[in-house]
Amino acid sequence: MSNNIQGKVVVITGASSGIGEATAKLLAAKGAKVVLGARRQDRLERIVEEIAAAGGEAVSRAIDVTQQADNDAIVQLAKETYGHLDAIFLNAGLMPNSPLSALKTEEWHQMVEVNITGVLNGVAAVLPTFIGQKAGHVLTTSSVAGLKAYPGGAVYGGTKWFVRDFMEVLRMESAAEGTNIRTATIYPAAINTELLGAISDKDTAEGAQAVYDQYGIAPERVADVVAYALDLPADTTVNEFTIGPANQPW
Ligand code: NDP
Repeated sequence: MSNNIQGKVVVITGASSGIGEATAKLLAAKGAKVVLGARRQDRLERIVEEIAAAGGEAVSRAIDVTQQADNDAIVQLAKETYGHLDAIFLNAGLMPNSPLSALKTEEWHQMVEVNITGVLNGVAAVLPTFIGQKAGHVLTTSSVAGLKAYPGGAVYGGTKWFVRDFMEVLRMESAAEGTNIRTATIYPAAINTELLGAISDKDTAEGAQAVYDQYGIAPERVADVVAYALDLPADTTVNEFTIGPANQPW
């Protein structure tokens, strides 16, 4: 069995539930030292306790990814606690979908702030470290909504489409500049998490719930993909992963 995950220090945003929580637990079980960030401190502390009880290593910090200082602080926490930083999984996100005609403009801007600005802040927080050590791995959760347009998902899809372009250019520039920063962008379809909880538009919420009830798969499936990407040898990158239920015609 490959052991490229053992000993790696990994910051995970959006670690208090869903895909982030599942990934934190899996990576810790594989010997990574995980540093968990999200806003709900109580949830993070419970997950850290569960990881420790299972024999893993984890710490946490309450962060809001829309704040650059919070992103800088969790990177600092990782380096102070474990001595170095190998990877960051920029996974925090939210999906309050609705038709544009509903004019839920506050939610539009919230998605831009968390799903785009949050990713920018996270990358800004790690780049000096990764450039300095000429190594690093940036992983993000985009979405199949970043690959295909669908009604109700104009803004959410736009934010995830942004992530796709941004990550690809990060990879190309890092290769050209010789800084050896690898990227992995993950495009999940229906994964059973707390994601639908943010949808305030009633029809959109009911429609999404029906899709997830019919097709949704466990967040541990996505965690496996993150682990696969992190486990690759240092000279190899798989940049993009589309993952979803085998029977969902997304
Ligand atoms: P969850 O709602 O379970 O998890 C979202 C996470 O993001 C939570 O940990 C939440 O923590 C965190 N978060 C939200 N806002 C902020 C913020 N401002 N600062 C810090 N953390 C924040 O859903 P998922 O696990 O599904 O979502 C993870 C990612 O996967 C998201 O980017 C989502 O867009 C993406 N995705 C999910 C799919 C699915 O079907 N579930 C499909 C495609 C992509 P807290 O509230 O404690 O801050």
